[in-house]
Amino acid sequence: MSNVDLLAFLRASPTPYHATSEAAARLTKAGFAPLDERTSWSQLAAGRYFVIHGGTCLVAFVIPKAKKCDGFRIVGAHTDSPNLRVKPTPDYVKEGYAQLGVEVYGGALLNSWLDRDLGLAGRAVVRNGSNGFTVRDFVVARPLLRVAQLAIHLDRDVNEKGVVLNRQEHLAPIFGLATGITQLTPFIANELGVDAKSIVSTDTMLFDLTAPTLGGQNDEFIFSARLDNLAMCHAGTSALAGGAETFESSALVPVLALFDHEEVGSESQTGAASALLPRILERIVSALGGSRDDFHRVLSSSICLSADMAHAVHPNYDGRHEPRHKPMINGGPVIKVNSQQRYATSAMGVAFFGELCRASEVPVQKYSHRTDLPCGSTIGPITATHLGIPTVDVGNPMLSMHSSREMCGSRDPARMTQVLGAFFATTTTI
Ligand code: ZN
Repeated sequence: MSNVDLLAFLRASPTPYHATSEAAARLTKAGFAPLDERTSWSQLAAGRYFVIHGGTCLVAFVIPKAKKCDGFRIVGAHTDSPNLRVKPTPDYVKEGYAQLGVEVYGGALLNSWLDRDLGLAGRAVVRNGSNGFTVRDFVVARPLLRVAQLAIHLDRDVNEKGVVLNRQEHLAPIFGLATGITQLTPFIANELGVDAKSIVSTDTMLFDLTAPTLGGQNDEFIFSARLDNLAMCHAGTSALAGGAETFESSALVPVLALFDHEEVGSESQTGAASALLPRILERIVSALGGSRDDFHRVLSSSICLSADMAHAVHPNYDGRHEPRHKPMINGGPVIKVNSQQRYATSAMGVAFFGELCRASEVPVQKYSHRTDLPCGSTIGPITATHLGIPTVDVGNPMLSMHSSREMCGSRDPARMTQVLGAFFATTTTI
């Protein structure tokens, strides 16, 4: 899938709700049908399906024509990215400015939110007469908000001591002067064309309006928000959609699992630590006439690739990287290894993914964190724990991870898509 499509995906996905909808739209175009968890799957025909769970999590799979399953090939990624999220009762006025109370979601680089033109996006729960509630997703892609940095004349040491931001005091965005509409809910109601009184609650997030773009002297980079981890969501979705016809003729079931809440530990209804994925996998085996013993048998022949972005070497901070483990942007996918199991990759996993790359004629790199720095983690160890199956942590190299504006290579996305496609179809077990 092209970078043009990736840029469109990034642009259309300012929140996990939108990322999930975008993935669903691409899968629908490729012949995948939505499946309702509340219905019986016992008569599930061969074909392509996806489940949207909680609005921010998606699991897609292909039931082979042979209606049997010899193993799952699971690609996991996450739809969420660190950002600023609006509190339930956000409106206040201070020194004549209308402002919003916000919470920091995940491990955001706080300084990256300063002095950017910010829009609002999210989901509103709207009262629907006597029928209960409906949800309406919204994007206001106009420069509405700004977290203004303090002028250097009032903060003389900032360049020497660094920008120190108190999350409560210094990150509240300015929404306007306190003269016009100073309340968020009526504003969103106006955008949605509904009565403000009908909006019961919202889940609203801030996003940088700068459009995703190719960059660098030879367009060798992609500059965008949310590359971690929408770039991997896109690669997984493209690989599943692009190879669906081949997968239908296989006895393996390819599964794409896009989880929410990775950036806050994955423990939620829609996170990788939930019972959702094991439940769906078991239902697939049942739908094919298998018993619980068959489910466990199939799991033992299954593999998971946890696809999450990786750290490329930073030229200005090369000392922060482990020597001989300095992935290059556009150097190909990265295998992540950590003996503390912050990454789930085993020696066999390294061999397995390396072989997939070699067979796909894609270069591959390895990453290990500096021993004296705490290593980040991802959904790999969590899915490995819950499913008890071999899991390999991989991702494309990037800089500025968790900034509101990140960067990666423009050659790596297509490579990862290709390797994930090969993974979905591989009969090799580990
Ligand atoms: Zn990530």
